[in-house]
Amino acid sequence: MMAEHSGIGMTSQRTRDRLADTLVEMGIHSDVVLDAIRNTPRHLFVDEALATRAYENTALPIGFSQTISQPYIVAKMTEALIKDRSLENVLEVGTGCGYQTVIMAQFTKRIYTVERINGLLIRARERFQKLGCTNIRSKHADGNIGWPTHAPFDGIIVAAAPIGVPEALLEQLAIEGRLIIPVGKSGDQKLLLITRKEDGFEEEIIDSVSFVPMLGGIDTT
Ligand code: SAH
Repeated sequence: MMAEHSGIGMTSQRTRDRLADTLVEMGIHSDVVLDAIRNTPRHLFVDEALATRAYENTALPIGFSQTISQPYIVAKMTEALIKDRSLENVLEVGTGCGYQTVIMAQFTKRIYTVERINGLLIRARERFQKLGCTNIRSKHADGNIGWPTHAPFDGIIVAAAPIGVPEALLEQLAIEGRLIIPVGKSGDQKLLLITRKEDGFEEEIIDSVSFVPMLGGIDTT
């Protein structure tokens, strides 16, 4: 019994390794991404009552009608963003509990993250501090307009699904920059990888997905 509570039960290294094994079976190949999943304490990103489920490959509620993304999706998005390149600055839209932020922060010099629900952002910031992540900058804002002051970005990762790709995010991509974004209505969403080229944008569908909708404006609760 004690073991469960002191973190060597359901949150043990063995439990985390099992999650990584599942991701390998699902087609995640990047060793560095798998290591990040193994080494990042996902149980600190959910309520204590859900901690024993933190290493299941599922989305879980984080309050405010939002969810922590499924580990497979976090791994898939991270893998697509870092493949064959190094990153200086990345923008994340939809901080949520901050799990994807902390994973991505391990692969870029700086990460800028925006969240429209202040209550989630406050808690995410506490986690960044606790985990000693010093390369994360965050802001309470509507991600539809990106973060122009720090553009252009080598990578942009979006954790909520708009119906169409926001123009501002395309504009804030560097040449050869990659935008990973779920697009479409609930029940019919595709994860897109959009790469900016000198003369336009290339688009590839990388998966079928199910994200919370991307909303407009900010929420102050
Ligand atoms: N990245 C998180 C996933 C959070 S779920 C993780 O690692 O688990 C998606 C988040 O996007 C929610 O917190 C939601 O509030 C936020 N969101 C939705 N629309 C947004 C917008 N226009 N701007 C910023 N954040 C938005």
